Amino acid sequence: MTIRLHDTLQGRKVPFEPLKAGEVTMYLCGPTVYNYAHIGNARPAVVFDLLARVLRRRYKLTFARNITDVDDKINAASVETGRPIDEITEKYINAYNEDMGALGVQPPDVEPRATQHIDVMIEMIQALMDKGCAYEAEGHVLFDVASHAEYGELSKRDLREMIAGSRVEVAPYKKAAHDFVLWKPSTPELPGWDSPWGRGRPGWHIECSAMAEKHLGPTIDIHAGGQDLVFPHHENECAQSRCAHDGAPFARYWLHNGFLSLDQTKMSKSLGNVLLVHDLVESIPGEVIRLALLSAHYRQPLDWSAETIQSARRMLDRLYGALRGIEISDEARAAATAPPELVAALEDDLNTPKALAEFFALARALNKSNDKKEMIELAASMYAAGDLIGLLGSDPEQWFAGHVEGEMPVAEIEALIEQRNAAKAERDFERADAIRDQLREAGVAIQDGRDGTTWRRG
Ligand code: AMP
Ligand code: ZN
Repeated sequence: MTIRLHDTLQGRKVPFEPLKAGEVTMYLCGPTVYNYAHIGNARPAVVFDLLARVLRRRYKLTFARNITDVDDKINAASVETGRPIDEITEKYINAYNEDMGALGVQPPDVEPRATQHIDVMIEMIQALMDKGCAYEAEGHVLFDVASHAEYGELSKRDLREMIAGSRVEVAPYKKAAHDFVLWKPSTPELPGWDSPWGRGRPGWHIECSAMAEKHLGPTIDIHAGGQDLVFPHHENECAQSRCAHDGAPFARYWLHNGFLSLDQTKMSKSLGNVLLVHDLVESIPGEVIRLALLSAHYRQPLDWSAETIQSARRMLDRLYGALRGIEISDEARAAATAPPELVAALEDDLNTPKALAEFFALARALNKSNDKKEMIELAASMYAAGDLIGLLGSDPEQWFAGHVEGEMPVAEIEALIEQRNAAKAERDFERADAIRDQLREAGVAIQDGRDGTTWRRG
């Protein structure tokens, strides 16, 4: 069986075949580093980390995930906070890698930073100028969309319709509304680099095209990102790269993850409902967050709520529960492989709901078995499946003792609830409320009822 992937360009699931036998190149648009990643940003990181793990079983993979460290949002954050740009980007690059690491995301093979690739961007812009696909106007260099007949192929947009329905305000220096910036001038206080068009900085789209070419070559196998990037970001990347490479395909397969909503609402700063991974990992084990993100198929929307987290926690309790009390040697673990049905589900366009169902079937078989040898084999298989999906990294006993990093142990929760009840009995409501807040901060919600106080995580 070959791996099958849903390609946005073809609009369907197709067999995957890399350009070079045995080798795969994959590029994922990474973070713009001006604040902490939210749980929606974590979805592509986790989903495509899983794809990277699945591909590595069969191929020599080179996986690049870039860092956008030059951007107007970063400049604005610097003005707002009064901190230098380098300090801001360094802080959020580290935080991003730490937070994604907590979710079991393995580091990519290459993590190119835009500011370290300005020379290759300038070269690509120059090539586009030379080929007649770009023009200079008032210190800007713009991509001439009309020069690329296939423009709109990825997002299935017709340029003529786009022009007719366009409400885009046209900058006076643009030939057409949809022409986009490759290079723009910088004022002295803004970051800038010398170029044939004066001191300036690159547009966002050119970064990815230039870094993908530099690290993975002119045609890459897989290009991935969130659904919102299809237009304009990926459409523009595709146009630039194809024009720069005389029409050669840019990516053989385009993969896009669906969006994550929060309690059925769009996550947005203005609504104040943005959940940061940095905060979540303080009180919820990374594996719970990872499993919650993988519980829906990656192309489907995913709604994030207390229930999503609780259900992922219950699933992990079931998996760890099956493994409890089973002694297994390192050799047996190393020799085991993930069950073929589970691997087949992942190789079928990353069907995680089906793969998880196979995982639970294994746990059920283990729960039922009384045969010591079989139990060890099933447990080893479960650990191998966990290694592939990026789960079951804890010791089962530790899991249940609540000693998983970042999680308050059950005994501590119960002791705090007792102390709070004692405080209430003494009418020390200030203390009682302080304990409730302490628990809430640790991700534990409590509820007072007729039969006493109950608690739950998440
Ligand atoms: P950004 O920093 O906004 O460019 O986003 C980084 C990555 O997160 C991109 O691949 C986006 O498509 C993705 N992304 C942003 N918001 C969400 C969301 N709510 N759900 C899923 N993916 C998202
Ligand atoms: Zn990109």
